[in-house]
Amino acid sequence: MKKNAALSLLLLIVLNSCGTTAFTGRKQLMVFSDESISALSDESYAEFLKTAVISGDKQHSDMVRSVGEKMVTALTSYLSGIGQQDYLGGLGWEFQLVKDPSVNAFCLPNGKIVFFEGLLQFAGNPNHMAIVIGHEMGHAIARHGNERMSQQALLQTAGQIATQVFGQTKYGQNAQAAELFAQAFAFGTNVGVVLPFSRKHEYEADRIGLYIMALAGYDIYQTPLFWEKMMGDKKSSSFDFLNTHPADIKRIAAISESLDEAAKYYRDPEFK
Ligand SMILES: [Zn+2]
Repeated sequence: MKKNAALSLLLLIVLNSCGTTAFTGRKQLMVFSDESISALSDESYAEFLKTAVISGDKQHSDMVRSVGEKMVTALTSYLSGIGQQDYLGGLGWEFQLVKDPSVNAFCLPNGKIVFFEGLLQFAGNPNHMAIVIGHEMGHAIARHGNERMSQQALLQTAGQIATQVFGQTKYGQNAQAAELFAQAFAFGTNVGVVLPFSRKHEYEADRIGLYIMALAGYDIYQTPLFWEKMMGDKKSSSFDFLNTHPADIKRIAAISESLDEAAKYYRDPEFK
């Protein structure tokens, strides 16, 4: 294949792989299907559950689940109401509290959200849990995992294309997806450690998280203080959650600036 033809093919792939994010409407590149990402997430989650210990703290396990379910119900009804239920494709929500002292939480692209017991010291009540869960749901519905993998795939493809005829690459799409998934969601030796998302993805997950909190009737105005408290803890540098979701003054300021817009999503006028 001539170089020009290869580049046009690459351009064609990019043009055909654009999506937009839920709520923020940002254009994004996604070359993998929801199904393939979802299947890889299912495998990873099953792997994680083999070694994780489910929490015996029934009160908080139930709380995490009921907050999560309340937010899913609100989100589903909102997106369905505006004809955007497609954003929920490939998502099978689940909310799990695990017995682990780490200050951590993560969400896989299939909607499996894991909350670690160590995070309860900061998020032990429903409203604080909603801050964490909303943010994690934000990553999932904005397809941040797919986007990150797609950007990597494109970099790799662009590197290969000059020397290889497209279609004869070393990996088929599924093998490539599996490899990129493993890079993006580095399970294995470090169980439950998801690589940090980019700053752009963090800010977007924050905003979407606030919108979902408002839809479900939680108090969004507690969010800046929640992050400040966690950041201000003298042990905060050892918190996995802050390492994968870096928080600083700028990020907290951006959250504060988004509050008024997020408040428009309250369904119940009482909260406004
Ligand atoms: Zn995040």
